[in-house]
Amino acid sequence: MDLRLTIELVPSTAWNHNLRDLLTRDQWDTLRRLTYKHYRYRCGICQVSDTTLYCHEIWQYDDDHHIQKLAGLIALCKWCHHCKHMGYAGILALDGELDLTLVVQHFLQVNGCSREDYQAHRAQAFQTHRERSQHEWTLDIGKYARLIHPEQGNGRAHLLLDEENDGDDIRPTQATGGWLYADCGDAWWYPPDTPRSGKWLVFLDNDAIDDYWRLIQLSLSMWRLGRVAKVSTGLAPAGKQGVICVYTYDYADYEDVMRVRRELSSIGTRRRIPYKSNAQTRAGHYGQQWAYNESGKAPAHVHLGSFEPIYRM
Ligand SMILES: [Zn+2]
Repeated sequence: MDLRLTIELVPSTAWNHNLRDLLTRDQWDTLRRLTYKHYRYRCGICQVSDTTLYCHEIWQYDDDHHIQKLAGLIALCKWCHHCKHMGYAGILALDGELDLTLVVQHFLQVNGCSREDYQAHRAQAFQTHRERSQHEWTLDIGKYARLIHPEQGNGRAHLLLDEENDGDDIRPTQATGGWLYADCGDAWWYPPDTPRSGKWLVFLDNDAIDDYWRLIQLSLSMWRLGRVAKVSTGLAPAGKQGVICVYTYDYADYEDVMRVRRELSSIGTRRRIPYKSNAQTRAGHYGQQWAYNESGKAPAHVHLGSFEPIYRM
């Protein structure tokens, strides 16, 4: 039968394979929070809200080539998470730290299945686990590989890293033809643009903009900014500066706007920079016509088109 909530046992030969250990604490926290947000702060299986969520790694197993592939991340409630890791839940129960009957009850309730269905599924899951545990597994973290710095990682897992070079070694000051763009490579994790999208503007001298653009590209590819950024090209005339625009999806999402601001700060932008809505840009509001909200916080009332909530941090 088709079950909504299934038991997923990681082969014992692959217990140390996980994304979490390959990332920095900061990266994992960002990814975890984005996953919760993506699932609207609900359990991705039973849909319960107002609960502590866990970020669960979904694995696919290629039993012919013994490749264990990370298919994605999902937000799970405590009980769905225990069901997924039924083997570990059993160990916790033996230690008196968990009531296994509550875990099984949750499984039956979410799946609307009988106890016999549960037992058959459990037996099958443990059988598969035994078979898979006889093999060594090559870890393929798929699209998440771009998050990992070559010198990072725990060195325990054999990793498949995709080599790619999308020609992002073009230096903005040497390029011609308007803007150069960079993106995060994979947009599933970042919310789509709202009518309140906008960007942080970083103005830089000719001698600094190329290097800073490299850092922006790296941060983007590690999912530490938003979806996209752009940089002006060519040498700026004397007395003028080039600009890098780092976009966010919604200026009313203060937390997201400030998360990006903190990242810009961590890669070198310490002085105050303006944030400008795209609506303002489209309406032709340039230069000193921006209205800054000096408190740095968007007002509770956000009037679209009034060009009000602008940060300057
Ligand atoms: Zn759940």
